[in-house]
Amino acid sequence: MRVPASYIGRMRPGDPDDPLLRQVMPAPEESKNVEGYTDDPVGDSASVRGAGILQKYEGRALLMVTGACAVHCRYCFRRNFPYAEHALKSRDLDKALHLLNEDQSIKEVILSGGDPLTLTNTRLADLIAKLSTIPHLRRVRIHTRLPIVLPRRIDTGLVDCLDSSRQPVVIVVHANHANEIDTEVRAALAKLADHSALLLNQAVLLRGVNDSVSALVELCESLFEARVLPYYLHQLDPVKGAAHFQVEDSRARRLIGEVAGRLPGYLVPRLVREQAGAPTKLWLTPTLHNSALHNMTHVT
Ligand SMILES: *Cc1c(COP(=O)(O)O)cnc(C)c1O
Ligand code: SF4
Repeated sequence: MRVPASYIGRMRPGDPDDPLLRQVMPAPEESKNVEGYTDDPVGDSASVRGAGILQKYEGRALLMVTGACAVHCRYCFRRNFPYAEHALKSRDLDKALHLLNEDQSIKEVILSGGDPLTLTNTRLADLIAKLSTIPHLRRVRIHTRLPIVLPRRIDTGLVDCLDSSRQPVVIVVHANHANEIDTEVRAALAKLADHSALLLNQAVLLRGVNDSVSALVELCESLFEARVLPYYLHQLDPVKGAAHFQVEDSRARRLIGEVAGRLPGYLVPRLVREQAGAPTKLWLTPTLHNSALHNMTHVT
């Protein structure tokens, strides 16, 4: 287990069903073997290009800059991935940059891991300076849960790093429940937004955590108040040990359909599933309820 104290501070004391506690607390169900749940559910091993680079999609290369995270999420699709073997080693950095420099089709580098913001500001600044020299690179994206689970990480040195990037910076944070977003988190996100990073959120649909219309609507509303737009709502990747978090596709489609009926379009995340070998994340279309359809015919 690994959980920052400030994240624990946002849990409701004495509540075993707390949605934050459930994300980090080992459960007895984890040791069950469930058919179809594997160690590498999204085909990461097959997409390794070497030197810490994963590529599955046109124009976007994902750089696994570290294996470390500030929190260990029980549902994580990389919970059994051999980070140590694939994460970028400092001695491989030149090789990775060479690969990115050579491949003109790459328009966006995604810093991921693990969590890239567990690197020191010095290492991040060095990385960003090097990416800034790649002429065909148009965007730098950072996938991180740190502004949510350890907001004090967003310090002056970090925003200075972002300011030093030649390319626009997109930051995709990861919050699954509105209770994760408190005053300190909002302040950290405001700092990032003030330094012109575009802020998006990806969440995972998790049974017993956020699988209700009210929890999802409140998450999207709270994200907006924190200057973040919902981007993806992921269906759980079938990683061994996480089957108890799974929400069936049919229910997931109905949930997002109801959410879409209650929020402006720009606050509705895309429900997606990752499928090994597919050219994009797969979009699952929302199922609209009869009442929603009924209302629509009256509007037109
Ligand atoms: C999810 C993912 C991306 C990003 O996909 P977008 O649809 O652009 O957000 C890029 N590379 C890998 C390997 C991924 O798993
Ligand atoms: S922060 Fe992200 S990568 Fe790290 S354990 Fe949680 S879900 Fe996995």
